[in-house]
Amino acid sequence: MIPITSLEFDEYTIDRVVSVLKSGIIAQGPIVEELEQAFAEKMGVKHAIAVNNGTTALSVALEAMGISAGDEIITSPFTFVATVNAALELGAKIRFADISEDDFNISPDSLEEAISEDTKAVIPVHLFGQISDMSSIINITSSRKIRILEDGSQSHFSAQNSIIAGSHDVGTFSLYATKNITSGEGGIVTTNNDSVASQIRLLRNQGMKERYVYEAIGHNYRLTDLQAAIVLPQLERYEETVTARSKNAEYYSQSLDGIKGLILPKQITGRRHVWHQYTLRITKDAPLNRSELAAKLAEAGISSGIYYPKLISEYSIYKNHKDVENTSTPTAKKVASEVLSIPVHGALTEHEREFIADTISEVLNN
Ligand SMILES: *Cc1c(COP(=O)(O)O)cnc(C)c1O
Repeated sequence: MIPITSLEFDEYTIDRVVSVLKSGIIAQGPIVEELEQAFAEKMGVKHAIAVNNGTTALSVALEAMGISAGDEIITSPFTFVATVNAALELGAKIRFADISEDDFNISPDSLEEAISEDTKAVIPVHLFGQISDMSSIINITSSRKIRILEDGSQSHFSAQNSIIAGSHDVGTFSLYATKNITSGEGGIVTTNNDSVASQIRLLRNQGMKERYVYEAIGHNYRLTDLQAAIVLPQLERYEETVTARSKNAEYYSQSLDGIKGLILPKQITGRRHVWHQYTLRITKDAPLNRSELAAKLAEAGISSGIYYPKLISEYSIYKNHKDVENTSTPTAKKVASEVLSIPVHGALTEHEREFIADTISEVLNN
């Protein structure tokens, strides 16, 4: 089976992990700090704060931004549940805006319509590796004093007009095992805002400023040096990773172009796509439906994935939640019924990607 994600660790990474083990400092220590500095430097932001996963990154970021119970947050219903869970955990209210068909991300027009007097923050989710239309979003939010938390979990170092995802106000990244950069579990918060950064550092470590001096009711959201050691080498060769992913995406976009009923993902002008996923849309005009195509691919030994089969707003646990507003998002609803992601990861061989494209063409052209 050709997997949808693949992880390979080189000797250098293994050596870095072993040296952490030998140092005897395995919890948060100097290697986490090294990771934070390297991540901030690569992104060109003042602060990167490492935490134990992408979900706590979101919730601690919101908390440090001053979001609390009753505050209204607007986001996309077409995302991983963590985006919404992090906000609900703080007692915030969720209102959904629709997405744009071009990039699967929150539509600036729909966002503008959804804004109310109570809106405190927007969480644009940069889905599948491509940043949202941040310049339009900023135009809408800046005059209204609405804060922005970018959920860049799937889009490390994606950018629009050279402004990198997560550098607008506050941004978060996941380091989960399937993401473009990983430590198994892990997360990073980025910001240029000094007070948000110091608040996150405080909250991450039990609200402790110095040993046993508490300034807030905090959490234990610390990342470990063992995990940071896994991430550092990936950060060093991240550009190569993205190049490999981009080449695969380019290949698919050329060889799958023009197939009836198939809509290919777009790389939008002025934006850097880091190809976390290559997500097809199988429309009603295709000779097979999505599950038939996925079954044909599986028969041929090709894994595929549906991210995400339903909108968050369609699950009853969210639909009936007192803090989730029911809004209709027709574009997101349609897109969720059409998406199918195929392997685009850097470990894919040329032969494999040709085989994947040929299989899809054959199955859909017959
Ligand atoms: C993975 C992901 C998260 C959560 O990250 P974890 O590290 O799994 O907690 C949040 N939002 C999005 C969009 C994600 O893809």
